[in-house]
Amino acid sequence: RAADALAHASSPAVTRDGVEVAVGANVGSADDARAAAAAGADLAGLVRTEFLFLGRDAAPDVDEQEAVYRGIADALHGRRITLRTLDVGGDKPLGYLPTAPEANPFLGVRGIRLSLARPQLLADQLLAVVRVAHDVPVDLMFPMVGTLDELLAARALLDDAVTLAGRGAPAGLRVGIMVEVPAAALKARAFAPHVDFFSVGTNDLTQYALAAERGNDAVAAVADPFDPGLLQLVGAVCRAGRPVAVCGELAADERATALLVGLGVRELSVAPRAVPGVKQAVRALDGREAAATAAAALDAPTAAAVRLLLEAEPSRGG
Ligand code: PEP
Ligand code: MG
Repeated sequence: RAADALAHASSPAVTRDGVEVAVGANVGSADDARAAAAAGADLAGLVRTEFLFLGRDAAPDVDEQEAVYRGIADALHGRRITLRTLDVGGDKPLGYLPTAPEANPFLGVRGIRLSLARPQLLADQLLAVVRVAHDVPVDLMFPMVGTLDELLAARALLDDAVTLAGRGAPAGLRVGIMVEVPAAALKARAFAPHVDFFSVGTNDLTQYALAAERGNDAVAAVADPFDPGLLQLVGAVCRAGRPVAVCGELAADERATALLVGLGVRELSVAPRAVPGVKQAVRALDGREAAATAAAALDAPTAAAVRLLLEAEPSRGG
């Protein structure tokens, strides 16, 4: 019986009408990777590699990074791991990476911007990623991308890493961007020829779309990921012709499953403990009904109106 439950937990989540939705786990430590596997995650949909860089005196070298990424892949029994390149900046400073003081760190040198300002740091990380991707399936993604130039600069460093690794193009490697900047969502079609996938970071996308800082309680009511403006941005990404994942907190909210699947999202990445519930929410859905609900949500005037539509969604409560 326990074995049955485990087999069910790790079987794919498919809607009643046959739409498969991968449910992955967000991983910020080696422990998380083990928890993800135990929870039946189909993949690690977001590995926050910062954990390896924080709280120390110097950046980890290529060999150390390679060993840690391999360890995560092993913990996931060879399932795909989605490695996000270093996402730090003014809001998450690193002692060995001094940055100039900024009045608005969330609008400053963070994510891919910091990596491109310190290309050797990114080059080392990419070399570690490439080495691992020769042996196990790896999705690589860049955080906080706002312009195509940023992506192309990062991809050029990736090409250099592939050359340096000396084993040709890694068989298991796919490359994508996180969509966290509203302009990037609106430009998804321009990015599409240069990426294999998009992963929407709704935590940052919400704060930037609504100009309401994440974690600031005084504006928490404004920073609502059910806001139709945020949903329209996700919808724009889904129309760009590439697979779309969501790895922000919204993905773990079972009230949002119909909405996201209905918009066209085919991968949800959530905290390990949320994996089983989200899989069940997917299994309860009818894809066509979800699409109709999502279409209505895009036209709703307020986040509250979106929530009302979701309460009436046929898969919820029958
Ligand atoms: C996000 O912004 O939604 C995201 C997943 O990235 P992080 O929470 O690490 O900023
Ligand atoms: Mg983010």
